[in-house]
Amino acid sequence: MLLGYRGYQRKRLNSRLSKLVKERTEQLQNTNQKLRDAYEKVEALSLSDSLTGLNNRLYVEQHIHSDLDLSQRAYENHYRGKQALPKNADLILFILDLDHFKQINDRFGHDGGDRVLIQLKARLKSVFRESDYLIRWGGEEFVCVARQTDRREATDIAARLLTAVSDTSFDMSPGSLDVTCSVGFACFPLVISEHGPAGQFSTLLKLADHCLYASKRSGRNCFVGIESISTRLSQVEKLSTTEIQGLLNEADSTVVTSLESEQNIRWP
Ligand code: GH3
Ligand code: MG
Ligand code: MG
Repeated sequence: MLLGYRGYQRKRLNSRLSKLVKERTEQLQNTNQKLRDAYEKVEALSLSDSLTGLNNRLYVEQHIHSDLDLSQRAYENHYRGKQALPKNADLILFILDLDHFKQINDRFGHDGGDRVLIQLKARLKSVFRESDYLIRWGGEEFVCVARQTDRREATDIAARLLTAVSDTSFDMSPGSLDVTCSVGFACFPLVISEHGPAGQFSTLLKLADHCLYASKRSGRNCFVGIESISTRLSQVEKLSTTEIQGLLNEADSTVVTSLESEQNIRWP
């Protein structure tokens, strides 16, 4: 009788214990899930810009190197005679900066300026592919990377960017506003030659920025781009503005623009 009672007590204790363990396990699983969700949110926030929801610098810096490697490998295999140059082996980096944005802020206030930036996102998306990178680089400056593409398409894309911004007014409710932008771009690999350096992300940025400034100086609402740069390019990372300009003036550099002629480009 006594043993029977003890057995009954043990059974009750065991069942209470296993119920408790089950509850605690579920609580732990819930907490872990919450932690995972929170971590994903923090990660997404740190890689994106809170105003437009576009990715930020950090995102492109994390991803671009594998894109550059892929493109460089395709060219290297081609030079070694391993394969014909595959279609879409290039990468094109565009920098877009809104024209006279300070005046927009002055006229419509900072919130008005923000509304232009938010609307710009849809226009960028209408020009680029889902797989391309659209980055808010800072302020009213955006970096767009066309991946696995053909550099012969660069001028078309740049022209579409200009019209995507200028063709339809921005909604400022009440009223609307005409906005334009200037664009600079550079294509990767920078040098189309077996012995020329392909370049690095920082060089690509530097050259596209040089072109953006040329667009601004040449009257805005236009693009200037580098399809390929002279084979004399060697010390890619340490180029001064004067050296860049020297290289661009070489006969084997290919500079393209929406201006009437290359002669109309006013370089920085
Ligand atoms: P330019 O045609 O030469 O580019 O002229 P700009 O007036 O656009 O020149 P600039 O690039 O010097 O001015 C950019 C302004 O953008 C300055 C800054 O106050 C404003 N700005 C930067 N970030 C933001 C933002 O997040 N929201 C708003 N509304 N304005 C911003
Ligand atoms: Mg600007
Ligand atoms: Mg700017």
